[in-house]
Amino acid sequence: MLKIAFDPIYAHPLPEGHRFPMLKYELIPAQLLHEGIITKENLFSPEPLDETTILLTHEDIYWKQLRDLTLSPKEQRRIGFPLTARLVEREIRIAKGTIGGCHFAMEYGVAFNVAGGTHHAGSNWGEGFCMLNDQAIAANYLLKHGLAQSILIIDLDVHQGNGTAQIFENEPRVFTFSMHGANNFPYRKEKSDLDIPLPDAMQDSEFLEIVEDTVPRLINQQKPDFIFYLSGVDVLASDKLGKLSLSREACKARDRFVLEQCKQARIPVQVSMGGGYSPHIRDIVEAHCNTYRVANDLYF
Ligand SMILES: [Zn+2]
Repeated sequence: MLKIAFDPIYAHPLPEGHRFPMLKYELIPAQLLHEGIITKENLFSPEPLDETTILLTHEDIYWKQLRDLTLSPKEQRRIGFPLTARLVEREIRIAKGTIGGCHFAMEYGVAFNVAGGTHHAGSNWGEGFCMLNDQAIAANYLLKHGLAQSILIIDLDVHQGNGTAQIFENEPRVFTFSMHGANNFPYRKEKSDLDIPLPDAMQDSEFLEIVEDTVPRLINQQKPDFIFYLSGVDVLASDKLGKLSLSREACKARDRFVLEQCKQARIPVQVSMGGGYSPHIRDIVEAHCNTYRVANDLYF
């Protein structure tokens, strides 16, 4: 069964009038329900994550300042949201949703989080709408509980997974792969185990060629027993922040290829959504929904 972490708070943590960036979290499940790809049984609503698990990944001081809403104004600006208790609660539910997704992925092959992909959060900082790093938290959870020994993180969001890279820089059991716009945020990049910086305006065929060359090679080399996929759709030509020139079809082909590789190698994969900032919400929702459609096609 296709299991998807979703909670109403994903879509409504902000006061009325500030909700646009969160709208996709409501529209993605609504669209999938509408198409009949899923029913309400496919959705699960995560509880808040416990502190012990958060602290496997994030530094004590940072977590406490986040929890108590006492980060400095400068640190809050780096996050980009006005810091509220509700936003923090949202973030810890998202992280728990990604952990829940790992368990479902081990059962069904693949599982999703409607949100997540908060890859700019490092061990002691939040940045770019990311406060806690959901996939990093889930990866450390898997390692800690002996549920995985070798993890591959495939981050194809257009922005570098700088937080993820920093968190695992000294962790040989987690291989971080980030493919991202060379001239895009974050401007000070961290070092992933493999970074592939992309020039502006990259087209479909060049992009897909790199994905098709790299992903099977990494799976072969690393022999992971668990994979995280960050399927940001800010690679689209229509994206305000992306700078690449991908079509929606190429974005879908990317997702299909990655998930096919995971399936063929029989490695469970958890998928978090990441970015998507096209001016038309329809473009964003369509592209994200494609990731679910492809998974549904391949697995169920
Ligand atoms: Zn992004």
